[in-house]
Amino acid sequence: MFPTYESFKSRADALREQIDAACRRAGRDSSSVELLAVTKTHPAAAVDYAARYGLRAVGENRVQEAQEKQPHCTAKIQWELIGHLQSNKAKLAVALFDRVQSVDSEKLLNQLDAAAAGLGKTMPILLQINAGRDPAKFGADIEDAPRLLEAALGKTHLRLDGLMTIAPLSADPAVAERTFLTLRSLRDELATRFGVPLRELSMGMSGDLEAAVLAGSTQVRVGSALYGHR
Ligand SMILES: *Cc1c(COP(=O)(O)O)cnc(C)c1O
Repeated sequence: MFPTYESFKSRADALREQIDAACRRAGRDSSSVELLAVTKTHPAAAVDYAARYGLRAVGENRVQEAQEKQPHCTAKIQWELIGHLQSNKAKLAVALFDRVQSVDSEKLLNQLDAAAAGLGKTMPILLQINAGRDPAKFGADIEDAPRLLEAALGKTHLRLDGLMTIAPLSADPAVAERTFLTLRSLRDELATRFGVPLRELSMGMSGDLEAAVLAGSTQVRVGSALYGHR
């Protein structure tokens, strides 16, 4: 059942405490990890809750769902696309979102860059990397990351903020841990090699956010722990 604002608020407080505790364990400042509210499948009120709580942004999985929801949202908040994007929807994605986290091909880079140019906009992006080598997940292969990154840096209407990954579903917490550490070291390596900060590391969800923060996540994407199960 969709929660009341009070119940959402206590869940968000508890999550924030969990993130802050992980930051303390990692010796990191708690302001270095953002909570992104994932509102997919939830009503427009979920977005308003996030804004009222003071979150900067929400994450949506599908372009069309965001398009349906946005007219019903009164709150001022940023929208991030975290789900797979088909290149024929690139133009609409650039119009509706403030950042696209799921960029995993050169074709998509080309389409997003052209769409952003058409709208006179610079589009912030993350490259989604399949750091857990999960055949069930989207995301570029680790080996293709340098080539993709170089292509992204060449686009005049895109701004590359960093990397994103989704850990494979597994009963073994070590799988997610390994995935996050892989993305972190890939980021460090690429940042050095290409001389760019790649500040954002979007990794960790409701079930694995502590491991993500310990590995250097700067943004955890949380849906069910905030809004209940879909
Ligand atoms: C749904 C989703 C999330 C949130 O997952 P929860 O387990 O509900 O916290 C995070 N990231 C992506 C890419 C998602 O699709």
